[in-house]
Amino acid sequence: MSMNRTQFQPGLSMPEFLKQFGTEAQCEVELRLARWPHGFVCPCCGHPVHSMFKVGAHPTFQCQACRHQTSLIAGTLFQSTKLPLTLWFLAIYFVSQAKISEILFDFELRLELYVTNL
Ligand SMILES: [Zn+2]
Repeated sequence: MSMNRTQFQPGLSMPEFLKQFGTEAQCEVELRLARWPHGFVCPCCGHPVHSMFKVGAHPTFQCQACRHQTSLIAGTLFQSTKLPLTLWFLAIYFVSQAKISEILFDFELRLELYVTNL
């Protein structure tokens, strides 16, 4: 019988997680590496040379070739959020640490509470 290798990987402890992703800057670096593992590449023209500045809470990248601008969170799960990345990363951590049966049980309880209060 095959085993899901991802599900049985050891997870980070809470102190380890907070040490790695406890600040907004750490989460931004991680998200940037996830989006552009070999460095920024313009989503319009593929040019790698860019300038970076802050608009709002997150870094924005401007392509030096075509002047297209994109923010760190544009086109990601975090697009349009007003919450800090640290909070999203923490939520993802909690979901990733829970067993699927616990998530479904919690969802079932919340659904029952919601239906009961209608
Ligand atoms: Zn470009």
